[in-house]
Amino acid sequence: MADAAVELVLRSTRVITPEGTRAASVAVAGGKITAVLAHGAEVPAGARLEDFGDDVLLPGLVDTHVHVNDPGRTEWEGFWTATRAAAAGGITTLLDMPLNSLPPTTTTDNLRVKQEVARAKAHVDVGFWGGALPDNVKDLRPLHDAGVFGFKCFLSPSGVEEFPELDQEQLAASLAEVAGFGGLMIVHAEDPHHLDAAPVVPGPKYADFLASRPRDAENTAIGNLIAQARRLDARVHVLHLSSSDALPLIAAAKAEGVRITVESCPHYLTLTAEEVPDGASEFKCCPPIREAANQDLLWDALADGTIDCIVSDHSPSTADLKTRDFSTAWGGISSLQLGLPAIWTEARRRGRTLEDVVRWMSAAPAELAGLSRKGAIEAGRDADFAVLAPEETFTVDPAHLHHRNQVTAYAGKTLHGVVKSTWLRGTQIADHGTPTGPTGLLLERQN
Ligand SMILES: [Zn+2]
Repeated sequence: MADAAVELVLRSTRVITPEGTRAASVAVAGGKITAVLAHGAEVPAGARLEDFGDDVLLPGLVDTHVHVNDPGRTEWEGFWTATRAAAAGGITTLLDMPLNSLPPTTTTDNLRVKQEVARAKAHVDVGFWGGALPDNVKDLRPLHDAGVFGFKCFLSPSGVEEFPELDQEQLAASLAEVAGFGGLMIVHAEDPHHLDAAPVVPGPKYADFLASRPRDAENTAIGNLIAQARRLDARVHVLHLSSSDALPLIAAAKAEGVRITVESCPHYLTLTAEEVPDGASEFKCCPPIREAANQDLLWDALADGTIDCIVSDHSPSTADLKTRDFSTAWGGISSLQLGLPAIWTEARRRGRTLEDVVRWMSAAPAELAGLSRKGAIEAGRDADFAVLAPEETFTVDPAHLHHRNQVTAYAGKTLHGVVKSTWLRGTQIADHGTPTGPTGLLLERQN
C-alpha cells in the first residue's frame, strides 16, 4: 500500500509522546499521524508546516464523562455548546453520559435520537455511554451492538426521575448481562442506605452538605461493587471517586486481579471543602468535594496508579437551579473547558509532569473506552492535538467559557496552562479559545 502524501507537519521543541517529551515534527496525512520525525526533518513537498516553537504539542484530551443533556434539557447544555467548550479546552473526544437528556440513552431507539441530534453539532468527536436501569436488561446487548462504549448505572438516586438507580439485586442482573457480552459497567458508587442515614440540614453551609454525603456511602458502595465484579468476573469502572478511604479497597482489588478502573475529576483534585464559601452551590456535586487532606491522598493514588484517569464530569444546569441552599441546589460542576489548566496548575505545584497529566487525561481515558486511535502521539493514531503554553497563566472569566450557562466553580482562579490551539484529525478546531467547525464525528465502540 502506498503511503498517503503528507499534508501537514506539526513541529514543536516539546512533543509529548508515549516515550517521553522531545523535540519533533509530526507528519499528518488523511487525518492520521503517519510519523513522528526529528524536529528538523525536511517538510515534504506540498505539506504545510505549523511550527509551535516551545509550546507543547500533546495528544488531544479524551473526556469520557460529560453530561451534554441534548435533546431534552438543552437549556442546561447541548452538543453545540458543550463540544465548542471541549474544543477550546484542548479536548478532542468526549463521551456523553446517558442521563439528563430526554430521552436518556437506555434503548437503541433513544441512542439513534441522540446521534441524530449530535451529528451536525459536534465540534469534537463524540461517543455515547448507554444507561442500565432496573427495567432495561433486555436493551443492554442491543445497545452494545449499536456501539455504546459501556453502561452507566446509579446505586443511589440520580437526581432525575427518568433514570432510577439499581439495587444490589438489579446491579447483579445487569452486571451479569454486561459481563456476558464482554461489556463495561461504569458506576456512580454511593450507597443509598448510608445516604438515608446521614443528616440533611437545609441551608447555605457547605459543612452541612458535606455531612449529608459521607465517605462511608462511597466506601460501602465501592466495596459491594468490587464483590460483585469479583464474583461475576465483570469489568467495572468507578466514576468520580472522591473518598480517599476507598483507595486501599481499590488497590487491593486491583492487586488481586479484579477488573476495576477508577476516575477522579478536577474538582476533587484542585478544590477543597475548606474553601467553599457559604451558599456557593456552583461547588455542589455528588459525591462532594472533600477536605484538603483527602485530596492529598487522591493525588498519591494517581501517582501510584490506583486512580487511572481524570475526566471532567461536566454536569451543568441553568443558573437558577444553583440556589444558595446546598440541600436542594442542582448538583453538578461545569468545568469542561478548564480541566487541563486546572489539573496542570495543581499537578505542577505537586511536582508532577505534563507527561503525567497526558497519561491521566488522554491515554488512560482512551484506553478505558477502547479508543485505540486516540490518546497518543504516535504513527497510526488520529491526528488529534492540543497546543499548550504551560508556563503562561490566565484568570478564569466565565464570560470566556463556551458551555451554555456560564456558571463555574473556577471563576476568578488564576491557572497555569493556556490552550493555544486544538486539532482534530489534522484540522484546527480551536484558535486561542475560539472554536471553529463543527467537524467532529460520531464514534462507536471499536471492540
Ligand atoms: Zn456525571
